[in-house]
Amino acid sequence: MTAKRALVSADNHVFEPPTLWQERLPREYRDRGPRLAVADGWYVLAIEGMPDRKLSRVERGDRGDDDAAGGGAGGLRHGGADPDGRLADMAADGVVAEVIYPTFGLFIDMVPDPGLQMACARVYNDWLAETFLHRPDVFIPAAVVPLRDVPSARAELERVVGLGFRAATIPTTPPEGTRYNQPVFDPLWAVAAEAGVPLSLHTGTGALPQSERGPGGAVINYAKVGLLSAETLCYFAASGVLERFPGLRLVFVETGAGWLAYCCERMDEAFEEHEAWVRPKLAMAPSEYVRRQCFVTLGADRAPILTRDITGVGPLLWASDYPHPEGTFPESQQVVERIFAGVPEDEVRAIVGGNAAALYGVDLDRAPAPV
Ligand code: MN
Repeated sequence: MTAKRALVSADNHVFEPPTLWQERLPREYRDRGPRLAVADGWYVLAIEGMPDRKLSRVERGDRGDDDAAGGGAGGLRHGGADPDGRLADMAADGVVAEVIYPTFGLFIDMVPDPGLQMACARVYNDWLAETFLHRPDVFIPAAVVPLRDVPSARAELERVVGLGFRAATIPTTPPEGTRYNQPVFDPLWAVAAEAGVPLSLHTGTGALPQSERGPGGAVINYAKVGLLSAETLCYFAASGVLERFPGLRLVFVETGAGWLAYCCERMDEAFEEHEAWVRPKLAMAPSEYVRRQCFVTLGADRAPILTRDITGVGPLLWASDYPHPEGTFPESQQVVERIFAGVPEDEVRAIVGGNAAALYGVDLDRAPAPV
């Protein structure tokens, strides 16, 4: 058997205890925050001002330990919220470090009330710090930073940076009525750039694409996820935000990655061929800022591999999406061999680990050797 590659997954998840918020929210918010409830045979998170969020069916036969691990949700692996269990799974799969995003906590982005929303984020971030920040060599948890109120978002980003977080998430699209090219967000970009903390934009946050109910709805909505990210990338690159904050790093997560090449070519064409209309006049073509400061995760999609002459290899980050059932665990080694067949070895190494290691400060030489 050939040796395993040392992989870094740029998009993994934790299954948080679904009772986290009802246990930890400040008293003033507790009744309005997420509560675990049963409705129509499902465990659901019930949240003020939002539709119930289904977690799992009540009559599952294999709950047992899953409850203790804090889930009971479909697809829960024993490593979900247990660092030792995760480490065992990582070793088996050849993953030496992982960036960790929420599962249930993705709801936070949708909470309408800014105060309640930030309170929910702080509860999640504190729990995440307690659970994962003790092993910075292998775990890179991403703090949740909601943006409905920029001063409090900036304060929370500063707080989590102080706690030791090296990654944070913002919504894929900004709150309704705002745009990411508006100066109101500059204080946030300044903090992220100064701290060297990449900001991730994970699918399922921001404007909800699950809007089409007619013919083709499921496919249309799934495809639109990547299109929303493409639009957001253009706002950052063409507007001069990336030029004004050269230390800012953006990571587009689980959105497919084939749109990146399209954006690079299309933005550059406008920038060069329609120069008379272009404001601001950037020092470089928009795609240069993308190559320098933007990243996308990829799973088994081929388009980003086939278009890497356009985007460069630097923005591409492999991800397994562990422990979600659609991810590549426990067959990540085989999947990587298959999707990168024919790609030069130095480029494969960059995409499956080197790029993420450089972005998040992972020392691949010191990382435990895969078994
Ligand atoms: Mn993900």
